[in-house]
Amino acid sequence: MRIMIDGRYLPGNARVNRDLLITLRNMAKVLKWGIRYDAQRELVLINSKDSTMPPLPIDNNTEERTEDENARLAGKVICLDPGHGGSDQGALGPTGTMEKDNTLAIALLLKEKLEKSGATIVMTRDTDADVAYADAATNEEFGARVEAANQAEADLFISIHNDSFTSTAAAGSTTFHYGDKESVRLANLVQRGLSEKLSTKDRGARFASFYVLRHTNMPSILVEVAFISNPVEEMLLSSVDGRDNAAESICDGILKFFKV
Ligand SMILES: [Zn+2]
Repeated sequence: MRIMIDGRYLPGNARVNRDLLITLRNMAKVLKWGIRYDAQRELVLINSKDSTMPPLPIDNNTEERTEDENARLAGKVICLDPGHGGSDQGALGPTGTMEKDNTLAIALLLKEKLEKSGATIVMTRDTDADVAYADAATNEEFGARVEAANQAEADLFISIHNDSFTSTAAAGSTTFHYGDKESVRLANLVQRGLSEKLSTKDRGARFASFYVLRHTNMPSILVEVAFISNPVEEMLLSSVDGRDNAAESICDGILKFFKV
């Protein structure tokens, strides 16, 4: 639900909420605002100058659209977690590429794209470093990543990884969730776009009891973008195009999740 005052959109897009509508109507009465609610467009229009009803905006106003595009995720805080880092290189590809480099590169591209839509991004790391402290143990690393998301009161937590298997034939993209309704919905949206965009085998959105999914207080997913142990997918994960496509599709999934 968007709110427009005197022809200008307020940033953010709240869920349609009866109590909020009643409150706005009561405020309008006391302050002598004109107000109307366009249910079809989920839009509250307010005229603060006098109590006449504000006109409906014209749909094809491109200027408003542009403004909208830049503010689609305004007010949303998203925590991005590039897997591994620093002393923990993660999985290794056949030619020696490291998971920790791929996850960071994809997360930084994703950060840029989400910020373009107005989101506030919290990174668990934005350099090649451990998150807790240098040479931290794995459980301390997980704890530090969860804490970053919970302390920021993020709306979403997205952990980015590369899959790996003993057989180089294993291939495809997988998105994990912890089974709660919103995380499942997010995982499905991201997973579908990811395997389509990367043309990887769709291994599905799946349940997993990963520490970072269990302990984060918000909808959270862990994306295994592709298999670094597979020579073809190793190339995809370490290429500029492959990384950008991965980031683009995860960004799309997030926009769909918020229905903006
Ligand atoms: Zn990993």
